[in-house]
Amino acid sequence: MSDVFNSSGLQDVSVPTFKAILTNIMETQKNLNFIEQLWASYYTYMNNDVLATGLLFFLTHELMYFGRCLPWYIIDKIPYFNRWKIQPKYIPSDKEQWECFKSVLKSHLLVEALPIWTFHPLCKKLGIAVTVPFPSLTEMILQWCLFFILEDMWHYWAHRLFHFGPFYKYIHKQHHRYAAPFGLAAEYAHPLETMSLGFGTVGFPIIYAALTHHLHLFTVTCWIVFRLFQAVDSHSGYDFPWSLHHFIPFWAGAEHHDLHHHYFIGNYASSFRWWDYSLDTEAGPEAKREREERMSRKAEIKAKKFN
Ligand SMILES: [Zn+2]
Ligand SMILES: [Zn+2]
Repeated sequence: MSDVFNSSGLQDVSVPTFKAILTNIMETQKNLNFIEQLWASYYTYMNNDVLATGLLFFLTHELMYFGRCLPWYIIDKIPYFNRWKIQPKYIPSDKEQWECFKSVLKSHLLVEALPIWTFHPLCKKLGIAVTVPFPSLTEMILQWCLFFILEDMWHYWAHRLFHFGPFYKYIHKQHHRYAAPFGLAAEYAHPLETMSLGFGTVGFPIIYAALTHHLHLFTVTCWIVFRLFQAVDSHSGYDFPWSLHHFIPFWAGAEHHDLHHHYFIGNYASSFRWWDYSLDTEAGPEAKREREERMSRKAEIKAKKFN
């Protein structure tokens, strides 16, 4: 029996099909919006919250990740879009994409299957709600912003560590197989990297829930979708005039991460540019030139002081 309804007796509905449950909920729970009605119908239909949450997370991950990669695969096939490719000489071959697809799928099934299936009991322990109605949109937006900021901070430092000696050699090198990345390469990584960088995505909502006891599973699901889209898009290899970072200057986007894959050094953050900017770890020849100019200006000032 599901926890999706706090008080009403609707969970006793003994109609067998999803459609019948949805119709029933739409007729009797008019205070809920359509997404809330769908969510409630899903949990009522599944009648097993552990299975429902596990399946929801597994399908969300697979459908959203590979679904988001598909447009980039198609764009790679259309020469018209080549004018916006950051490294236009490197279009991934079908063989490369297929190898990458198989490896990512295998990693999803092996590394991520268990955490996904044990997520609901953890949610219950931490008080992550599955009930309807959902929290207000303002509350959800504030939590998404917080998770983006925290994940980006975690990603910056963990990724910077992964470029150090043995961490690079034995773990992170796999992700750097493609010097010109493409969408599918976003999660092409060593299992230890998947788990440690994945902490930034899943760990902070868990800590947040443990501290505040005020988080909804729908908020977490949407956050994971946004983060998947951000990761795939930053590996797409395309910088369009309408790409987000042209409108939000601190948004990282593909241009930022492509330079990381190209030069192997610098641009360690995931979503935003502020960590690399303020800690002077921006990648690429332009950033290098600016850094050198800044250093020589500093040296001149220092020399003048002593003369
Ligand atoms: Zn790297
Ligand atoms: Zn990457």
